[in-house]
Amino acid sequence: MAEKIRVTVWNEGRHEKENKKIAELYPQGIHGAIAADLEKSAELEVRTATLDDPDQGLPDAVLQTTDVLIWWGHRAHREVQDALVEKIQLRILSGMGLIVLHSGHYSKIFKRMMGTYCSLKWRDIGEKERLWNLAPGHPVTAGIGDYFEIPKEEMYGERFDIPEPDQLIFVSWFAGGEVFRSGCTWERGQGRIFYFRPGHESYPTYHDSNVLKVIGNAVRWAKPRVWMGTQDSPNVPKPLENLALSKK
Ligand code: ZN
Repeated sequence: MAEKIRVTVWNEGRHEKENKKIAELYPQGIHGAIAADLEKSAELEVRTATLDDPDQGLPDAVLQTTDVLIWWGHRAHREVQDALVEKIQLRILSGMGLIVLHSGHYSKIFKRMMGTYCSLKWRDIGEKERLWNLAPGHPVTAGIGDYFEIPKEEMYGERFDIPEPDQLIFVSWFAGGEVFRSGCTWERGQGRIFYFRPGHESYPTYHDSNVLKVIGNAVRWAKPRVWMGTQDSPNVPKPLENLALSKK
């Protein structure tokens, strides 16, 4: 039997602690809702981690045994230690998958991997979002039709300050008129990255079957294919071929 994909669902976890309505929507936290769905798959080994856990939820023993890291953060991006961001970046470049959700667009790790500011427009009046599936043959959209809708969400609008995605998977249309590149893939080093837009904390978005399906698909797509450190630049003084170098 194939080895399980080791998934760590990381969540800042502050909104659920500080806001009663959000705690009612997500009694086990946003991380708990996502993990509960992923745990239904026998091929996944799922852990959760939050910012207020020891070592900000990602001690080496956890990070170095994570195949795919899911990231939800919002108000405490700045509290994530730079040394941890450095370690996560290296792990991604070596092969780990990263799935960044919603307001994670401003997380240190996403900005580090993108190299741009990752800014966007937003409005939170609970309007309808329609996500168009632009890549019906892509593993991330398996089981998703032409489009799906979320009845109430925060709006994110263009321009989203990201580097050109390797592939655009979803584009969202909002009832207010804006559009947004809401599902995007990139590769960095040996690692695969997926950004997925839905998931404002005050809506039940992570109980939506389509949203959970896309996240589960993305985990499988982003799993490591090879582990290869990228930080060394070795000198190789001996050529592979026996070169007869002429003496002048
Ligand atoms: Zn939001």
